[in-house]
Amino acid sequence: MTTHSFQTEVSQLLHLIIHSLYSHKEIFLRELVSNSSDALDKLKYLTLTDDAHKDAAFEPKIDISYQDGDAKTLTISDSGIGMNEEDLKENLGTIARSGTKNFLNKLTGDAKKDSSLIGQFGVGFYSSYMVADSVEVISRKAGEDDAWKWTSDGKSGYEIEKTVRKSAGTDVILHLNDEGKEYVNRWEIQTIIKKYSNHIPFPIHLHYEDTQYDKDGKETGKEQKEDQINDGTAFWKRSKSELKEKDYNEFYKSISTDFEDPMLYFHTRAEGALEYTTLFYIPKKAPTDLFYADYKPGVKLYVNRVFITDDDKELMPVWMRFLRGVIDSEDLPLNISREILQQNRIMAKIKKNSVKKLIKEFGNLANTDSKKYIEFYEEYGRTLKEGVAQDFENKDNLIDLLRFKSTKVDGYTSLAEYLDRMQDDQNIIYYITGEKEGSLRNSPLLEMYNNKDVEVLIMDDEIDELVMPSIPKYKEKELRSVNRSDAADELKSDDEKSSEKELKPLLKKIKKVLGDKVKDVVASTRLSDSPSVIVADQNDPTVQMQEVLRAMGQTAPQDVKPILEINPTHAVVKKMQDMRKSKAFDDAAMLLLEQALLLEGVKLDNPPEFVSRLNSILGKAL
Ligand code: ADP
Repeated sequence: MTTHSFQTEVSQLLHLIIHSLYSHKEIFLRELVSNSSDALDKLKYLTLTDDAHKDAAFEPKIDISYQDGDAKTLTISDSGIGMNEEDLKENLGTIARSGTKNFLNKLTGDAKKDSSLIGQFGVGFYSSYMVADSVEVISRKAGEDDAWKWTSDGKSGYEIEKTVRKSAGTDVILHLNDEGKEYVNRWEIQTIIKKYSNHIPFPIHLHYEDTQYDKDGKETGKEQKEDQINDGTAFWKRSKSELKEKDYNEFYKSISTDFEDPMLYFHTRAEGALEYTTLFYIPKKAPTDLFYADYKPGVKLYVNRVFITDDDKELMPVWMRFLRGVIDSEDLPLNISREILQQNRIMAKIKKNSVKKLIKEFGNLANTDSKKYIEFYEEYGRTLKEGVAQDFENKDNLIDLLRFKSTKVDGYTSLAEYLDRMQDDQNIIYYITGEKEGSLRNSPLLEMYNNKDVEVLIMDDEIDELVMPSIPKYKEKELRSVNRSDAADELKSDDEKSSEKELKPLLKKIKKVLGDKVKDVVASTRLSDSPSVIVADQNDPTVQMQEVLRAMGQTAPQDVKPILEINPTHAVVKKMQDMRKSKAFDDAAMLLLEQALLLEGVKLDNPPEFVSRLNSILGKAL
């Protein structure tokens, strides 16, 4: 037996792991299983590529067993590549990677800060010391006859002696401390393996003692049993060509809580400078918590098939929170923490590429299967619009994915299609915002646009009011809301402008009656059938927007008043022009405002007064 001391850095690291990763101690099992899986991967590679190992029997398996009693042990065994004496010294006694050494030099000694830093690299094997007083590693390297036993209490050093092992592979035997006792439990082990290592592509068997009972409940004996406790396949790592839609649908249901098949899925394998696999699903129905701040993210992160997290809202952009699926990277460190993930450049790259790729896929779908695209858009259009407002980098591509209802087409149109239909001398893309498609289509605001055959997009989603201001232009053309007072200036003829002048005195009189209920009273050229309409001042939020703000619990600006537009060609207005100031004139002026407010879906301040005005006028007319 020989005794060795740890390299200084190992002692440092051990100390750090035990004191800072404490609250995540169950990860030791993930780390050891991951080492076993790596060892199996390496031997697999050798048997495939190295003549000396070609004929070696390769029976990949990871076995977990435990012993209860006074001394509690947990053993993780594998039939992998194994280690000889040199390997043991090198791998479990020193820290070879310069990155880790640099990292250790950066440590502050402040446990809290250090624990968030520690996620930068794999803590690996040494995490065993969170749950064990001492660890034995018995290993035999593939192709060699001798086996070696490495033992350490994880303090100053380790011992190595020769031993025997039937075949190549490694046993890691943990002598559990008080912190580790809880892992001598079949269900506990099974739960942790399912959580972190379910998709390790080798079978993991749990050995346990099963107690038998007779039908009266009396114990009749004990039996040794073993069960495979992981799925054993990393579904997303399988090649696309061998997978059918049915397989994708099944896997989707296994990782989501959805009973339905997904609407869409995208399986991507990136090779080259950065290697990763993504498998993204889009549920047929938008997740119910989509518009809640505490929504549950649906994308899981794996590092080389080892589960890292399924609860990180930063993995993908917030506006893509409807995605379900898996990101599996070969290049990230296994023990990457959430804090580190957000700053990690590899992760940032994977995220960026994946977002671009998905946006492209959505675009392809729009071009190749517009029916399906609309199905997608009707579920997730709102989140795409959020993306337009939030995702500066992808904004332009996202704008192309937007679809709107319109006065010119059935169904939906894109902005590009609007441009195609636009009249030669038209420079502005018009849209109207409001609550209900039906009332928007009948809005008096549209009369002039309809008369001049100018297309107006119908925006009846309340988020449109928030998003559209972030799209001032599309392909050099201004987007303008017809709810604004100056919207139609461009379309007015000189004649129309001069008739506005003649109306000035009447407008003044009406303004006097309405007082501070309106910001202004102006002549309208866009009305033909209606006598009046209200519009917002260019710089004020529209009436609908004020409603949205209130619904969102925000205070809408207090002193926002509408502008009343009067149609000079309407019979009522013509009559008013000849009227002297009187009670009837005042009633008519008020009714012009009130009917316009009603059409905009605004509740009147004083319905009884409105009704009495109406009756007074009716009385005179009948
Ligand atoms: P990491 O796995 O991140 O490299 P570890 O401290 O967990 O760090 O392990 C150090 C090294 O020890 C591994 O890189 C591997 O070479 C070796 N090793 C650990 N466990 C095993 C095992 N079960 N079989 C073979 N080699 C192993």
